[in-house]
Amino acid sequence: MATGGERERETEGGPDPVLLARCRAVLRRAPAGLLSDIDGTISAIAPTPGDAFVAEGIKESLRRLTEQLALVAVVSGRAAETGRTMVGVDGLLYVGNHGMERLRDGVRTAHPAAAASEAALGEALAEIGTALAASPLAAVALVEHKGLTGTVHYRLAPNQAAALEILGPLVAGAAETHGLRVTPGRAILELRPPVHVDKGTAVADLVAEHGLRGAIFLGDDVTDVDAFRALRAARAAGEVETVAIGVVGAETPATVRSSVDATVTGVEGAAALLAALAGAPLGEPGP
Ligand SMILES: [Mg+2]
Repeated sequence: MATGGERERETEGGPDPVLLARCRAVLRRAPAGLLSDIDGTISAIAPTPGDAFVAEGIKESLRRLTEQLALVAVVSGRAAETGRTMVGVDGLLYVGNHGMERLRDGVRTAHPAAAASEAALGEALAEIGTALAASPLAAVALVEHKGLTGTVHYRLAPNQAAALEILGPLVAGAAETHGLRVTPGRAILELRPPVHVDKGTAVADLVAEHGLRGAIFLGDDVTDVDAFRALRAARAAGEVETVAIGVVGAETPATVRSSVDATVTGVEGAAALLAALAGAPLGEPGP
C-alpha cells in the first residue's frame, strides 16, 4: 500500500520527474555510464541467494541502455560470473566480488592481490562452515564461496540479531586467523581479502578508464556507500556529473540514506526509473 507522497508519485506516474530529468541530463553528458548493484537494487532480496533473479523488464532496460551509453555495468558482491548469469545482457560489464573481478565478453580478470588470498579464504570459509554445522544456526546460516570473497547469509534465521551474536565473533575470528577482513550487509557478513578494493574504488576506476562525463550509480546496502561516496568525490573534483541513487525500503541502512543524492522505493522503483531512462532517446532535451 502506498504510504507516502514519494511512493505515490513513483507508482502512479512512473519515477519522480525531477529525478528522471536529472538522470537524463547526466546521461546526456557523453561518454556516460550507468552502474548498478544487483541484489536489493535490480533484484528483490530472496530468502536464499540462489532464489534471487532479475526481472525481464529490467534486463530489457539495461539492454537498451547499452545501446545508448558508453558504459553499462553491474557492480556486485556476487561473483562476476553469477552476475552475468543473473542479468544475462551482452555488452554489459560485470564487476564482481565488490570490484575484485571483471567479466566482459567472456573475458574474466581478477585483482592479483585478491587472487593471492584465495587459499586463505577457502580455509576460513571451511572453518566457519564446520563451526556452523555444530551450532544452533546449522539449518539457517549459509556459507557461500564466491571465489575471491565469501558470504555468510543469515536471512533465514528466525532471530537475526541473535544469529549475528553467534556469527559475528565466529566470522571475525576466522578472518583474523587467515588475514582477511569482514564487512556487514543486509543479513550477511562478507569475508574479503585484505586489499583496498571495494565498490568505491571499482566505480572510481571505471569513471577514470572510460573518461566518463556523466555517471549514475544505484545501490541499496552499506557496501554501495563506497560507490556513492566515490561518485560524490569525482563530482566534487569536477569533470563528471553524477547521481547516487539509493534503492530504499524498510531495512535500508541509515548510512545509505545519508550518502545518496536521491532515492527510489524498492526494486520496483529502480525498475521504473531504468525503464524511463531506457525508453526515450537520451539525446532529446528532457522535460
Ligand atoms: Mg545490494
